[in-house]
Amino acid sequence: MDLSSGLPFWLIKNGLPFDYQSLQKDAHADVIILGGGISGALAAWHLAVAGVSCMVIDRRTIGLGSTCASTALLQYEIDTPLHELQNKVGLQNAVKAYKLCSEAIDSLTAIAKKIKFTDFEKLDSLYYAAGNRDVPFIEREYAIRAQHGFEVSLLDEGLLNQYAGITAPAAILSQQGAQTNAYMFAHSLLQAAMKKGVAVYDRSAVQKIVHHKSGVKLTTEKGFTLTGKMLVYANGYEAVNYINQKIVDLHSTYALCSEQGNADDAPFQNKFVLWNTADPYLYMRTTSDHRILVGGRDEKFYNPTRRDKLLPKKTSQLSRDFKKLYPDMDFKEEFSWCGTFGATKDGLPYIGNYKKLPNSFFALGFGGNGITFSLIAAEILKDTIMGKKNNSYDLFSFDR
Ligand SMILES: Cc1cc2nc3c(=O)[nH]c(=O)nc-3n(C[C@H](O)[C@H](O)[C@H](O)COP(=O)(O)OP(=O)(O)OC[C@H]3O[C@@H](n4cnc5c(N)ncnc54)[C@H](O)[C@@H]3O)c2cc1C
Repeated sequence: MDLSSGLPFWLIKNGLPFDYQSLQKDAHADVIILGGGISGALAAWHLAVAGVSCMVIDRRTIGLGSTCASTALLQYEIDTPLHELQNKVGLQNAVKAYKLCSEAIDSLTAIAKKIKFTDFEKLDSLYYAAGNRDVPFIEREYAIRAQHGFEVSLLDEGLLNQYAGITAPAAILSQQGAQTNAYMFAHSLLQAAMKKGVAVYDRSAVQKIVHHKSGVKLTTEKGFTLTGKMLVYANGYEAVNYINQKIVDLHSTYALCSEQGNADDAPFQNKFVLWNTADPYLYMRTTSDHRILVGGRDEKFYNPTRRDKLLPKKTSQLSRDFKKLYPDMDFKEEFSWCGTFGATKDGLPYIGNYKKLPNSFFALGFGGNGITFSLIAAEILKDTIMGKKNNSYDLFSFDR
């Protein structure tokens, strides 16, 4: 499947920062990670730090799956609001999922620091009502988050305008948020993992996978075999091909990036990521080189051709969405792109063993919070391999 098209900003900005080899011989490691995007990279880094023998294999050039298309806002706020998530998974689990995502932002911040990856910034997250009728929704969401210890403030129209320079009736301001560059983060993690002995192969498609009681055997399109004790499926939306149950609805999503300089304008000096209550929601952030990224306008996904055909129209719409919010800003888009992403029934990811495939571990961070979910998956994976019980395992399991 073609996961993205157009001109993803990070690919333009960072190009091909590192080269990796394709697989040219049979190989063995205790853990094989299928996929070298941000999920595979976080998994590899965690295992490398724990001293576990592992290798990464990807059919594409590293990062060219969904990861290069990601706008990479890091939020603890799951696509399903907390006050709705409690009805789907129970209050305790809903609060736990939000707390785990919040902790994931702190963990990602610490990892970025540890590997000296600098395109990572902690900031606020602002969630605003797209219209007057969404004000009760915002109030309900604020109340449940405040009640459960999240650091949030409720902003009325005046305070919101003062803080973010937009006109909307209400918003929740959270202290916990971040933004990064998922493409370079994945490369940096893999580079750090390689220094600890992890082998990373790209341009090597795995065609056949056999799971048996004591391990796994993978065969590539060139006929080389990889053997291991466990296979980590960090292969993004293509993982659905290996699962015999419907776990995800696919959507097409669109993003654009402005020319440099827009993020220097006054409203953005407060440093926040922004999203709203519309369905599909509109979101935006700044970049370290002073651009503004705007995303949203999602559609049901049918095929890449249909998704890509809509790109010019969606780019104009997103540009208009931005100008409506900031009418006085001289905003000009420079790059735009689209991608496919998946939404689950409750907004939570699927992480852990899929019983029909012995010795499998799935790290499927579906949804708008894909990256925080990838971090949670890597932590659960590490605990599982080290034989340590992880209290979050059941929350994201296939059996939930
Ligand atoms: C436009 C857009 C905006 C987004 N914005 C955000 C955001 O703001 N915040 C956020 O948290 N998330 C966001 N997401 C989601 C996030 O980008 C994804 O959750 C994340 O990139 C998924 O990473 P991954 O490593 O799981 O998958 P991928 O990056 O797709 O990596 C999987 C890899 O597996 C490889 N693979 C698959 N099958 C095989 C095989 N048979 N053999 C070998 N290799 C294989 C693929 O080649 C691929 O490189 C966004 C997504 C899109 C498309």
